[in-house]
Amino acid sequence: MNQKQDIRALNKEQLRDFFVAQNNKAFRGNQVYEWLWRKGAHNFDEMTNISKDTRNMLEANFVINHIEVDTMQQSSDGTIKNAIKLHDGLVVESVLIPTETRTTACVSSQVGCSLNCTFCATARIKKMRNLNPDEIYDQVVAIDQQSRLYQNHKLSNIVFMGMGEPLLNYNNVLKSIEKITSDEGLAISPKRITLSTVGLPKMIKKLADDEVKFNLAVSLHSAIDEVRSAMMPINEKSNLSELLESLQYWYVKTKKKITFEYVVWKGINDKKKDIDALVDYCKKIPSKVNLIEYNAIEEAGFQQADAKAIDYYVRTLEKNNITVNVRKSRGKDIDAACGQLANKHAQENSEEERC
Ligand code: SAH
Repeated sequence: MNQKQDIRALNKEQLRDFFVAQNNKAFRGNQVYEWLWRKGAHNFDEMTNISKDTRNMLEANFVINHIEVDTMQQSSDGTIKNAIKLHDGLVVESVLIPTETRTTACVSSQVGCSLNCTFCATARIKKMRNLNPDEIYDQVVAIDQQSRLYQNHKLSNIVFMGMGEPLLNYNNVLKSIEKITSDEGLAISPKRITLSTVGLPKMIKKLADDEVKFNLAVSLHSAIDEVRSAMMPINEKSNLSELLESLQYWYVKTKKKITFEYVVWKGINDKKKDIDALVDYCKKIPSKVNLIEYNAIEEAGFQQADAKAIDYYVRTLEKNNITVNVRKSRGKDIDAACGQLANKHAQENSEEERC
């Protein structure tokens, strides 16, 4: 059995200490750290400014766990969906979403998800494990490389809207963001990062207390408790008023507006009472609304609402001075859109991953 430690679980200080304990120089720790993170080395032999003996010593003590892009599917709209193989053979998905002016990476934070939102394909895969910070970081690096190759510019934005609930993998997600934003990593501004959550009040307050600088999006989908609970079982544990209280706490501390993500489904939340409830909710917290297109998933039995209902949402929100955007899905033809990530291409690996 391979008991060697993943060297990327060590921070820079710990790496420096390791070298000192080996009667070597602390600055070797800095050099190795740079290879591991900024230069993305996959094996010790790539570390050309480190002597062969030292590389062998590292090899004897550590492994470098890294992700691999297993399959890559390209949509007719330029979206790229990657099946990412982790060191233990599990698979997650990451998506590159291009527009004319920017490229966004949509990354996963867990293998599967435990929250059972009825409309989401990822919920059909039981939660297997949390991703480590380096596994999240590596997804961003892989998409940055694809962006440079296919879009001729570097990655500009990151959304935590792939598989999993990022706030249930709090520490690792925050560590990955620290690395993504640091000069020793990718130096991407936190203003260009958005974390999307089902809305876990305790964790939202913790984000505010931790003074994070990235943006927060909450998957709302209804501002009526019974309707929301039927779609998102998490709402039974923490209801809309608890969520609101945590968002107000977030706003007071961060001064950052919340984005509400919202799908309008036929016969579920497409009536006047649904719109009125959303307007009332938004009035209690500085926020904007992204109306997301529903991406049909197998056997869920939901349908996107009529254009008329969506129009009515837009007009009513605007009349009440609430910013609203209607978001078109990207990468639908390859099941890469919101809520469609379910390792479809990786059926052979997923037999035990499915509920
Ligand atoms: N767990 C996080 C992030 C993953 S889902 C969260 O819930 O926010 C990313 C977004 O896609 C969420 O807003 C989610 O509600 C939405 N989504 C899930 N399934 C969808 C579907 N079938 N069609 C459209 N959006 C969906």
